Amino acid sequence: MCDPSPYADNLSDGNQFSASGFCRRCNCIHALPSGAAHAHCLELMHLFERHETIDLQPEGDPDPQLSTDYLFGPARGKMFGVLECRDKHDTPVILRAFSGQYNSIWRVSGWAPPLFDMTEFSAVNDSEEKAIKALGRKLDTLTPHSQEWLELRQKRRTMSRGLMQKLHGIYRLTNFHGQTTTLFSAYIEKGGVPTGTGDCCAPKLLHQAATMQLTPISIAEFFWGKSNRSESRHHGRFYPSCREKCQPILGHLLCGATRSGNVCK
Ligand SMILES: [Zn+2]
Ligand SMILES: [Zn+2]
Repeated sequence: MCDPSPYADNLSDGNQFSASGFCRRCNCIHALPSGAAHAHCLELMHLFERHETIDLQPEGDPDPQLSTDYLFGPARGKMFGVLECRDKHDTPVILRAFSGQYNSIWRVSGWAPPLFDMTEFSAVNDSEEKAIKALGRKLDTLTPHSQEWLELRQKRRTMSRGLMQKLHGIYRLTNFHGQTTTLFSAYIEKGGVPTGTGDCCAPKLLHQAATMQLTPISIAEFFWGKSNRSESRHHGRFYPSCREKCQPILGHLLCGATRSGNVCK
């Protein structure tokens, strides 16, 4: 493991369980502790500090798109996560993820992929996204709050919402019983599925582990870079899985992982 880090001691008290969610199938909460994943996160922070890239297997010149400078610019920082697993021979396997896209990239080698197929994503997203952006440019040319401006703004909102629904429809979430479901049926809260659900580190990591037939042992997530706008995330701090987007789908995703780390609370 790496040298002692200034970030080592900031996992707050309530974080004994890093990821948790209520499972409708088992009628209980499934949870994973931060365990050894915490130390693996510290190691990752150390790598970021030393190499200033998220490229885990740099060969030759580092890819400028993967530089950690991106996290300290206008886009601000993001969450990173580590899932400690065991394969069927009990060999440790460490999975890593970043939340959402990294500098407009969904897939980076060595990091957990998104919960959808990229070809399907492009087919659904690309043309509609272009149309929505064109509406935005048209809006900028109109007098704010004029009749035409208001109508166009409403049209853009409706289109964005429609696109988000369609995109949510292509997410697939596999659990440790090998059951695959959609975001809509995994999400247990009432009301709509919030934007960005399924893009955090925990869902990406658990889905990847389940599809690779690994057993998850522990999980930890930390923020790296410039604080987010609401100042709810700070550089080098650990956070449990988020309440709004992750906890409502983690019951499904954690179901069937039967090591002692994954308990019914
Ligand atoms: Zn989340
Ligand atoms: Zn369950």
